[in-house]
Amino acid sequence: MPKGIWIFVEQYNGQIRKVSLELLSQGRKIADQSGEPLIAVIAGEGIRDLAGQAASYGADQVYLLDSPELKQYTTGAYTSAFNKLIKDNDPVAFLLGHTALTKDLAPRLAQRLGVGLASDVVDMETDPEKFLVFKRPVYTGSAYSFVGTTTRPVLATIRPKSFVPSEPDTSRQAEVVDAAVSVDPADLKTIIKDIAIAVSSRPALTEADFIVSGGRGMKAPENFKILEELADIVGGAVGASRAAVDSGWIDNKFQVGQTGSMVAPTLYIACGISGAIQHLAGMGSSKFIVAINKDPDANIFNVADYGIVGDLFDVVPLLTQEFKKLVN
Ligand code: FAD
Repeated sequence: MPKGIWIFVEQYNGQIRKVSLELLSQGRKIADQSGEPLIAVIAGEGIRDLAGQAASYGADQVYLLDSPELKQYTTGAYTSAFNKLIKDNDPVAFLLGHTALTKDLAPRLAQRLGVGLASDVVDMETDPEKFLVFKRPVYTGSAYSFVGTTTRPVLATIRPKSFVPSEPDTSRQAEVVDAAVSVDPADLKTIIKDIAIAVSSRPALTEADFIVSGGRGMKAPENFKILEELADIVGGAVGASRAAVDSGWIDNKFQVGQTGSMVAPTLYIACGISGAIQHLAGMGSSKFIVAINKDPDANIFNVADYGIVGDLFDVVPLLTQEFKKLVN
């Protein structure tokens, strides 16, 4: 009999990703409704200290996969270790954040386990037959599909910011279990020798509450400085349209949209972006959208809460001045 709702608590350099805290909080609600225990699964090396945080966000139990083989993510090692852990313990559901790591891991796990996968989920509800039914955007967000599986475990990746994290309760305790890590040597096809990290003081796009993005209207790479200045006042992130990325003005990790990051900040400011469907697919769930465009008929104004018709090179510095006054 499958047992337990598992949440993949993704960590990077000893920091739990925000989406995992959102999932633990939502998982707690499902656990209370279904009577299943909520189990956090943390993988890496030297990760024991993270168990308490997982407990404070609702986990009843924490499985630690602590091993040098899992220090850095590799497809083979993580697929192997999780496949074995799941087969040995038979959870009802395994929920992961929809991140760069899990876009790689989850489909492989689904294939190994012979189960379905609901990816890029934005909402979920309990269901007597399928345990969970997931809401997923389709056709670049123009419609939603509702999917569930009868196979176990129910496997899904959940888009960041789909759920609000609860207030942590530091008095909560969870049983911590050192899970045996079993990695099949045949799975180890990649060895990571070194990692070069681009240092940035700005938050990751998918986790940022404030994003200011530039499109083709930015006209040149050096002009992104005015967006960086605005973003830095409120500790926000800088994003871009694909046109700006394809022009070579900004790295593609900053691209927002169907083939970039899916973001849902509290405030998204689109500067010189026309509002193509593929861009809207990535930022349409933002709470407030402000568009700055000199074309009054630009499609971005159809989704914007506030629209400013004007030249971004005039408007952005004015906005920056006003934001400075607000934070000072
Ligand atoms: P444009 O459409 O050229 O718009 C530029 C805008 O800037 C115009 O509205 C103009 O009025 C305005 N402007 C110009 N100068 C100024 C100024 N000085 N002040 C104010 N406004 C000014 N796009 C994405 O963004 N993300 C994706 O993930 C993505 N994925 C795609 C996937 C596929 C399969 C395909 C086919 C396309 C994808 N695209 C994506 C591309 C998308 O279709 C558009 O081409 C792109 O979003 C356009 O970028 P843009 O709005 O910056 O440029």
